[in-house]
Amino acid sequence: MPSSEYSKPLPVPQPESDYYWEQARHGKLVVQNCVDCEGAQFYPRVLCAGCGSRNLEWLEASGRATLYTFAIVHQPPHPGFRDDLPYITAIVELEEGVRIPSQVIGIEPDPDLLHIGMQLEVAFEEIDESITLPKFRPAR
Ligand SMILES: [Zn+2]
Repeated sequence: MPSSEYSKPLPVPQPESDYYWEQARHGKLVVQNCVDCEGAQFYPRVLCAGCGSRNLEWLEASGRATLYTFAIVHQPPHPGFRDDLPYITAIVELEEGVRIPSQVIGIEPDPDLLHIGMQLEVAFEEIDESITLPKFRPAR
């Protein structure tokens, strides 16, 4: 789809998240891991949120996750989302222990079909040449 038709607000890459977005374009989900306290974190930051260390490394996540919480959106938070309604906004917990905001796709937005803790896997959605968003679908 041409990027000019994408009307939703897009993430704005920051210097510390360039690598994250670059990897997402290649279909890889990466999270930061602190070498000093062994805590993984998301979103990418200059410092470890747990201990303040700058000694951070990138880990490729497995892409496996569980549904931590979700909401079915019927009112668009931005006009660009109107065509998607209803959709499932969610916090998913990666196998690495990091929770990230995303969307659940590939399943009807029906609360009877969704349950906390259900197994999910990452599915990348290419938005334009610089942004590919990690979304999650039920694991096969
Ligand atoms: Zn740390």
